[in-house]
Amino acid sequence: MQELASKQLREHNSLAVVANCQRLFALEQINDLPALTQLKLEQPLMLGAGTNILLRADYPGDVILNRLQGRQIIDATDKHAFVRIQAGADWHKTVLWALDKELSGIENLALIPGTAGAAPVQNIGAYGVNLSDSLELVEVWDRQRKQALMLKAANCKLGYRDSLFKQQIDRYWILNLTLKLSRKPKLRLNYSGIKQQLLANGIENPRPEDVVTAVCQLRKRKLPDPAKHPNAGSFFKNPMVTDTQLKRLLNQYPDLPHWPETENQTKLAAAWLIERCGFKGKRVGAAGIATNHALVLVNYGQATGSELWQLAATVQAAVLQRFEVKLEPEPRILP
Ligand SMILES: Cc1cc2nc3c(=O)[nH]c(=O)nc-3n(C[C@H](O)[C@H](O)[C@H](O)COP(=O)(O)OP(=O)(O)OC[C@H]3O[C@@H](n4cnc5c(N)ncnc54)[C@H](O)[C@@H]3O)c2cc1C
Repeated sequence: MQELASKQLREHNSLAVVANCQRLFALEQINDLPALTQLKLEQPLMLGAGTNILLRADYPGDVILNRLQGRQIIDATDKHAFVRIQAGADWHKTVLWALDKELSGIENLALIPGTAGAAPVQNIGAYGVNLSDSLELVEVWDRQRKQALMLKAANCKLGYRDSLFKQQIDRYWILNLTLKLSRKPKLRLNYSGIKQQLLANGIENPRPEDVVTAVCQLRKRKLPDPAKHPNAGSFFKNPMVTDTQLKRLLNQYPDLPHWPETENQTKLAAAWLIERCGFKGKRVGAAGIATNHALVLVNYGQATGSELWQLAATVQAAVLQRFEVKLEPEPRILP
């Protein structure tokens, strides 16, 4: 384990906010974990690539960058393979690695930035697929019990952008994940856009690699590239409303997009609500909302974390006032 000379976090958050922490460590080998747990750490924060955080100010504690690397097939049957991915491995490269090994199930999650270890934290999802569809086990360091544990996915409380790791934030450090992938193509093409993109590419009988290509094309078209326009992906979760709220909203806005989720719970499109409040493409100084996607908060220059947060709070307040719907941020707001 290495303590880095720099305490700067700008390179470690995709919104490119300038902020410092007290001390910055990199956990590069699992053998370094005991030494790390022996240190007197101040409010330790485990980070992957920082693509799902907003630093409103300096972080008043120690930050540990999870850099544990490695991917391997640990077991296989005729139908499935079980693969273990170390927490610091790049997620998109993991999708490509699985493709190369002819293992299917995570194609729709291509090009989601960040590390594998952060993927269970908000149960990453895209184009109709969630990590929970393939997740089997998560190995963690439990900071409360001071021991390593192997958790079954069924015990990780995985929900829509939610998990045990979010609910008990900072208790668990994720060390690795085990995924169950299919040895036969298991394609999920129902989500709008994928089929159209495949057809536009002239593909009628898609293979897993065609789905990865189509997903990457869709994402590149829809989402600003954080390397050019620093952002944290969708800034708000799609809100859930009750039947009573839905009825009220549909009376006023008959074109409101909505998807029934469970009994008495319907999901709304946060992007639609934000766009209707006139925020798409709006800028306040260097903080802005992307021109092509109302859910994406962008740092167009030297915006501070607090300026970005103020814009997000303004959006939240406007949506609450107009629709009486509370938007919840998807990224972790720090400190
Ligand atoms: C352009 C863009 C597009 C995106 N698209 C999607 C999308 O389609 N779907 C989606 O679900 N998300 C999306 N995201 C959000 C983000 O990519 C994911 O949430 C990703 O899993 C974050 O990985 P990370 O390594 O950057 O996590 P970080 O931002 O470093 O951390 C996020 C949270 O996880 C915790 N954490 C990180 N690593 C560990 C660990 N090893 N153990 C315990 N806790 C840990 C952190 O403390 C923090 O609370 C997008 C982001 C961007 C910038």
